[in-house]
Amino acid sequence: MNVQFDRIALIGIGLIGSSLAHDIRRLGLAREIVVATRSPETLKRAEELGLGDRYTTSSADAVEGADLVIVSVPVGASESVAKEIAASLKPGAIVTDVGSTKASVIAQMQPHIPAGVHFIPGHPLAGTEKSGPDAGFPGLFESRWCIFTPVAGTDETALKRLRGFWETLGSKVDEMDAQHHDKVLAIVSHLPHLIAYNIVGTADDLETVTESEVIKYSASGFRDFTRLAASDPTMWRDVCLHNRDAILEMLARFSEDLAYLQRAIRWGEGDKIFELFTRTRAIRRSIVQAGQDVDAPDFGRPHPLEKK
Ligand code: NAP
Repeated sequence: MNVQFDRIALIGIGLIGSSLAHDIRRLGLAREIVVATRSPETLKRAEELGLGDRYTTSSADAVEGADLVIVSVPVGASESVAKEIAASLKPGAIVTDVGSTKASVIAQMQPHIPAGVHFIPGHPLAGTEKSGPDAGFPGLFESRWCIFTPVAGTDETALKRLRGFWETLGSKVDEMDAQHHDKVLAIVSHLPHLIAYNIVGTADDLETVTESEVIKYSASGFRDFTRLAASDPTMWRDVCLHNRDAILEMLARFSEDLAYLQRAIRWGEGDKIFELFTRTRAIRRSIVQAGQDVDAPDFGRPHPLEKK
C-alpha cells in the first residue's frame, strides 16, 4: 500500500477513468475511490466491474470530501462538470482532468473552481480506440507521457503531489503552457486522427470499388488507418471543436505538403518523392528508439508461420 490520497473521486468512468481506477486500486493509492458518471447504465457497469468503493450519478456528491478529483469526460462537457462540482469541493483538494485539449478546458473550468482548491489541468498521452468502462485496463499509463498545463499561481506542493501520483502510475510528467500543448497535440494526435477519419470515409464513399473489396484487401495499408478512425465519435468531435485554431493551422500545412507530393507525382519527380519517404522512415526509427513503440514489424501483429 502506498496511500497518497484518502479519497479520490473519478468523474467519468470510460476508458481513461476506468484505467485510472484499476491502477489506483492495484497500487493502493487511495483509501476510497468514488466513481461518478452521468448515466445509470455506465454506473451499473462500473459497479459490476468493481472499479470503485462508492458509486453515484451525482458528480457533486462524489467530490464531497475528496482530496483528488479527476475529471475524465469529453472536453466539451468540462464546463458543466465544473459548475456541478464547484460548491462541493473540499478546500485544499486537487482538481485535475485528462482532456485532450487544454486551453478550452481551462477556459471552461477555471472560472468555477473556488479559491483554496488547486486546479491542475493534465493530459495523459495514452489511450486506445475503445471507450466505456470495459475498455480500461491496468498499466495504460506505464511509460507514457502525462502533460500538465498549470495556470499562473499554481501551488507547488499540489503540483508535486499530482506529479508523484502520475509517476507512481509509471508516467513521465512534462509541463508546458496550454497553447503550446494544443499545437503539439494538433500535429501528433489530432491531425493523424482526422486523416484517418477522412481516408476511411473516402474509401467508404468510392463507387468504383466495392465495400467488400475495401475490407478484403485492407491489410495492404488501409486497416492501419481504421484503428484511429474507430475512435470515439463524441470525444473526437469535441477535440475538433475545442482545438479549432491549432487543427485548422495544421490542416492547412498538411494540405500544402500534400499538394507538393501530388505535384511531384504528376511531374514524375522521383527524387523529391524518394527524399520525403527516406526522411519519414527515419522518424519511425526515432519513435522506436524513444521507447514509444516496439521494433516489431507490422506493429507486432502475429503472423501465422512466424517462429515464436
Ligand atoms: P469514454 O470512454 O467515452 O468515457 C466518457 C465518460 O464521460 C463516461 O463516463 C461518460 O458517461 C462521461 N460523459 C460523456 N459525455 C458526458 C457529458 N456530456 N457530461 C458528463 N459526462 C459525460 O471517454 P475516454 O476515452 O475515457 O475520454 C475521456 C477524456 O479523456 C476525454 O476528454 C478525452 O479527450 C481524454 N483522453 C482520451 C484518450 C483516449 O485515447 N480515449 C486519451 C487521452 C485523453 P456516461 O457513459 O455515463 O454517459
